[in-house]
Amino acid sequence: MNSIEHFINGKTVKGSSKRTGKVFNPASGEVSSNVNLANTADLNKAVEAAKKAFPSWSEKTPLFRARVLFKFKELIEKNYDELTKIIVSEHGKVYEDAKGSLTRGLEVVEFACGIPQLLKGEFTENVGTNVDSWSMRQPFGVCAGITPFNFPAMVPMWMFPIAIACGNTFILKPSEKDPSCSMKLAELFLEAGLPPGVFNVVNGDKEAVDAIINNKDIAAVSFVGSTPIAKYIYENCAKNEKRVQALGGAKNHCVVMPDCDLDQAVNGLMGAAYGSAGERCMAQSVAVAVGKIADPLVESLSKKVESLKIGPGLDKKSQMGPLVTKEHLEKVKGYVDIGVKEGAKLVVDGRNLKLQGYENGFYMGGCLFDNVKKDMRIYKEEIFGPVLSVVRAKDYGEALSLVNDHEFGNGTTIFTRDGDTGRSFASNVKIGMVGINIPIPVPMAFHSFGGWKRSLFGDQSIHGPEGVRFYTKLKTITSRWPSGIKSDPEFVMPTMK
Ligand code: NAD
Repeated sequence: MNSIEHFINGKTVKGSSKRTGKVFNPASGEVSSNVNLANTADLNKAVEAAKKAFPSWSEKTPLFRARVLFKFKELIEKNYDELTKIIVSEHGKVYEDAKGSLTRGLEVVEFACGIPQLLKGEFTENVGTNVDSWSMRQPFGVCAGITPFNFPAMVPMWMFPIAIACGNTFILKPSEKDPSCSMKLAELFLEAGLPPGVFNVVNGDKEAVDAIINNKDIAAVSFVGSTPIAKYIYENCAKNEKRVQALGGAKNHCVVMPDCDLDQAVNGLMGAAYGSAGERCMAQSVAVAVGKIADPLVESLSKKVESLKIGPGLDKKSQMGPLVTKEHLEKVKGYVDIGVKEGAKLVVDGRNLKLQGYENGFYMGGCLFDNVKKDMRIYKEEIFGPVLSVVRAKDYGEALSLVNDHEFGNGTTIFTRDGDTGRSFASNVKIGMVGINIPIPVPMAFHSFGGWKRSLFGDQSIHGPEGVRFYTKLKTITSRWPSGIKSDPEFVMPTMK
């Protein structure tokens, strides 16, 4: 059995913990590896390596660091197929989707290649007579990232390329469900010329996460995962005086206006609700059908959901792969049972799907609910599977209130042909990432990604300009060279003239 350990100080290191977790191939249901679950001693070893690597890495010029990132980018491109297959084999999503997610991670590396430009700072000549002032951003030290299962390449790559480009050293604690991609990325970064200890991967679960929270040498923590854990990380990192950004769960609404292009809305919803088996934090899991569009929308969606091609991620014909684990599959099916009990109309039931030759894989078919109401659990809670709920609203105002009243605020979309409605939605919706006729409005790497409300705890979004701010500390210098000027003590608040 393949065993996955840790990547510390430039090499694979066997964990001292006796605990292991199982990594599955969701397509077949078989265990593919055992992953060591780090204890505090393992995590501390990585922190020591990162701490030791920090002085010399942070003193390298931004240009030097950028060149290592350029090389890393080249190596990712060379290893695209292998990295993509690793994602498919442990997560289950279909090959082209996995490849796309790797591209979205690679784009953050490309953004980080511009770090000499991004770290330039600000300068004012003569803030006072013969006094100059400038602000610069300096790295923090050892930073850590804790990531979810659903994007084993992209989400870690939202974090470490920027942190490292800024001059920090980094410890990544990936999801224990699909850890291999992070290990491969660490090897490639080393091959690109990154000094040992700058990027470390520690595999594990809560024990490793708590060791990160409690380690005094870790200065900043980025988290992406579910809301209860995001809140736990946010509160405890803040208590331990760390900078923290903690991105949580979602329940994204897609508002379908009666004037929209129905085909575009339906196709957009199909990809956004069922792509990656709904295991995306930007998945559209609620369609708000406004007015008379509801019946044709449900009819058109139901035909497409019934004909979804479900199969292993490596089969080119598959549009949707399995879910990540059996446990998660049961949880999602359990939510469908709850929806039926709550009185929602299950228009398409994918619970009993069996695939010949893949009987032990973690598959289910797409599910579609109509007449979902605000007080139902299937509306209030994140299901994180291929289940789309249609809620009917009488008008735009009611649809907007639904989106704004929900506890989550990650992403939302409106399909409309009316500019006034689109503009009003963009201005008034209380959500971090908004699409207008764009089904999954994920910001590009050079913008920043982040939700509102209980989808993000902390002050800064992730990657893009906000990422550079998160991984650096601001320092402002005020200076004068007073040759030949006689100075007397000043006892009043200095003001510039
Ligand atoms: P999760 O919260 O279960 O796990 C995330 C990370 O936290 C993992 O590394 C895991 O090992 C660790 N963890 C789990 N339980 C813990 C505990 N009790 N104490 C400390 N650490 C713990 O999330 P997941 O199931 O891996 O991922 C799916 C979730 O992530 C969904 O809620 C999804 O919406 C969210 N997500 C959000 C975004 C975003 O940008 N907002 C992006 C991707 C995923």
